[in-house]
Amino acid sequence: MSHRSRKPYIAGNWKMNLDRARSLDLIKTVKGRLGDGGDREVAFFVPAIYLADVTAVAQGSPLGVGGQNIWYEANGAFTGELAARMLREVGADRVLVGHSERRHVFHEPDEWMGKKVRAALDSDLLPIYCVGETLEERKGNRTDRVLKKQLESGFEKIRPEDAHRLTVAYEPVWAIGTGETATLEQVDLAHRTIRKWCVQRVGEEAANLIRVLYGGSVKADNAKEIMAVDSVDGLLVGGASLQAETFLPIIEYDLR
Ligand code: PEP
Repeated sequence: MSHRSRKPYIAGNWKMNLDRARSLDLIKTVKGRLGDGGDREVAFFVPAIYLADVTAVAQGSPLGVGGQNIWYEANGAFTGELAARMLREVGADRVLVGHSERRHVFHEPDEWMGKKVRAALDSDLLPIYCVGETLEERKGNRTDRVLKKQLESGFEKIRPEDAHRLTVAYEPVWAIGTGETATLEQVDLAHRTIRKWCVQRVGEEAANLIRVLYGGSVKADNAKEIMAVDSVDGLLVGGASLQAETFLPIIEYDLR
């Protein structure tokens, strides 16, 4: 199945950037430029404190709005954490799980990932499950092994019927926020590894519904060539999603 049978998905991850006013301005601008959302899916992953305001502004448009992290329990003594149902309650329709900064700055272990992905789905949030190797792992020829281990943990509680709500993002850690992009060949190889693993795990029919995005220093000037790689279904964009001037050309990668 060619990647064009899956709707392209372009997502922006603001991380801990922007402020309330600039967030709302950016949503208004992007919302005004989106069509009916029929030919591409566009979403922002925003600081949780702005979710209610951002979703209110995005309402009536096809723009998706998500959180950047969740905890997997629904309630309890987890000071500082947010449950999936809380994000849903303030209008989020999706969430990132296992972003490399969660894994490497906050030391989130693989063991949490399956529970987080399950908690997201059970609260009606669409997860983007992020995987990717460090530079050391790549240099040690361990990329495939690392990706498969991360996939095993994230898919621990996945059933084939969940597949249409699931997205995987391949984000090599060494390419995030560094200005260094993986080569098209590296992207394609990793994406093929991920898809092959998904086919083995949930079967071909279900795996065909899972989109695999690339993330890591995506910019307006490389978005088109990355999207032309057959195994790439979309992009997860950090720094370049913070301003309309840098994000709109990425969303419109095929219109220039
Ligand atoms: C990210 O935050 O997921 C990311 C890929 O960041 P950047 O585009 O800035 O490398």
